[in-house]
Amino acid sequence: ALGLGRFRQADTLPLLKGRKIQDVPTPALILELEDYEHNLATLNKTLYDNGCDQSVKIRGHFKAHKCPQISYQQVTYGNCVGMCCQKVSEAAAIIDSNHQIDDIFISNEIVEQEKIRALVHLSLLHPEGHERKIKISTCVDNVEMVKLFHQTCDEEISSQQEVYNQNGSPLLKLLVEVNVGQNRCGVTSPSRVIEIINEIKSSKYLQYGGIHAYNGKNQHIREYTDRQAAVEKVVDQVKNLVSVLKQHNLEPEIVTGGGTGTYLFEACSSVYNEIQPGSYLFMDVDYSKNKNKIGDFFVTGDNKKDVFRHSLFVLSTVVSRPEGLDLVVVDSGLKALASDSGPAVPKVDGKKIEYAFYGDEHGGLTGEISDLKVGDKVLLIPGHCDPTINMHDYFVCVRGGVVEDVWPITARGPGL
Ligand code: PLP
Ligand code: MN
Repeated sequence: ALGLGRFRQADTLPLLKGRKIQDVPTPALILELEDYEHNLATLNKTLYDNGCDQSVKIRGHFKAHKCPQISYQQVTYGNCVGMCCQKVSEAAAIIDSNHQIDDIFISNEIVEQEKIRALVHLSLLHPEGHERKIKISTCVDNVEMVKLFHQTCDEEISSQQEVYNQNGSPLLKLLVEVNVGQNRCGVTSPSRVIEIINEIKSSKYLQYGGIHAYNGKNQHIREYTDRQAAVEKVVDQVKNLVSVLKQHNLEPEIVTGGGTGTYLFEACSSVYNEIQPGSYLFMDVDYSKNKNKIGDFFVTGDNKKDVFRHSLFVLSTVVSRPEGLDLVVVDSGLKALASDSGPAVPKVDGKKIEYAFYGDEHGGLTGEISDLKVGDKVLLIPGHCDPTINMHDYFVCVRGGVVEDVWPITARGPGL
């Protein structure tokens, strides 16, 4: 009777369709559909215009948005093979959404047996509503992990023998993660890679799928030529590894890596055959600091033709103009915007206004703020898109200033 339901996010947000953006309650995660659709198209266009081998496949990264609607648009757009995920729960969200996405690669190490068991199940069964069996692949970087995958398959098969006999083996495809300078997961020496591949090949349930060679730090190197040089080093390492593997008759079917900052270099390297960018759909303040090569199609974050545009914003409301301070206080702080890549940047035409975090629920604007009054709405460009999106329940999708749709961020949270 009090109408409080309107303030429960899950109840409220789907009711926003048709509202003007200035009437959306805040903080709200806004997706400008025209710019998002431009980014979706631009990824394909840049691959084409830069003369990259057109057999290189796009496998968009679900970790960026965790939203099945978006993954569906990614796989139906251009040269896509399926989706990348970072978590088993993300794969589950894609499969449960029943968009007929049937090829999922988890670009991460899954070591808990319960999760491996879930992957084996997914590979065995046609999930309800799916026409085809789902192809699942993931990463390993040591022999013990491979043994656990084999043992788990063996245990699960004993209770699902009939299904297994119908579908045949192998069940899971494993890619060896190679450390190409990020110093996170992965092995470096070709001899170790071979040892792991041989362990995979010794299991009747497992298939050797190739190598995962991703360097996250390289994505954010600011100068174009420095970024290019860093990827050249990675490409040399990968080429060397692949040639050793060929000598051992272990040529990888898939060589995958490359995010928004570097994907063109990997795609044109003639050794990578899949790329896995995510942030290109949204762009954030961090990525807008990456510099472009003049005349080239690459990431700048400005609104020139053929480069990625900012499509993602947090809409905030001015809640105070505190007395005696040259300050505007908005309702969006650390719980609405990720802070790891620095502050958000207000989207205000022709004015110099700076945002700073003022606490969990507050942000402060300084600079040319004289026109702003309590109740006004301000769009903020997040510093880092992935962890910002992860804080919100929905994308509020806007076209021409009006809410066109609301897309749930189904897999948000740290992710199992
Ligand atoms: N691949 C892996 C393994 C990642 O960890 C990430 C992001 O950190 C990506 C791809 C996508 O990167 P981006 O969102 O910068 O395009
Ligand atoms: Mn990121």
